[in-house]
Amino acid sequence: MNCGTCDKPLGKKNVSGYCRFHSAAGLNSDPVRKALKYARRSATMSAPDRRARMIAHLGRISADKVRGWCPPEYVDEYFRLNRKKGLTAPEAKAVILKLAAAAERKRLAAMTPFERSMERIRMGAGITTKPDLRKADPAFTLGGIASGAL
Ligand SMILES: [Zn+2]
Repeated sequence: MNCGTCDKPLGKKNVSGYCRFHSAAGLNSDPVRKALKYARRSATMSAPDRRARMIAHLGRISADKVRGWCPPEYVDEYFRLNRKKGLTAPEAKAVILKLAAAAERKRLAAMTPFERSMERIRMGAGITTKPDLRKADPAFTLGGIASGAL
């Protein structure tokens, strides 16, 4: 029996029908196999500090993404839900947003209206005048004739 590509004679135990060189070339041209090989290699990367750095880098990327929307005091809770409790990212985000909204409502409810106003001003809210929507009182009457009828 000879190699299917180069006609090199093959051993009796050969099952692929190709010589060593062409068998490897054929396997390496498979993109799925290539991806698996790469993934396996990076998962067991021999340099431990490089592996740790890469994991930290990936962790930082996802943590930065979470910090874009998540209140800082809930970041750890988000990752606990997402990684340890097995919630998907959107589920964990929904839980965190609900928790944060409830905590904010509770905090605001414990404040006086004056404290709430002062906080809004501290956070940059400008002071605006409220438009006076009441009808102006006529300064006089015409002997009982309603000024609106004039
Ligand atoms: Zn060959």
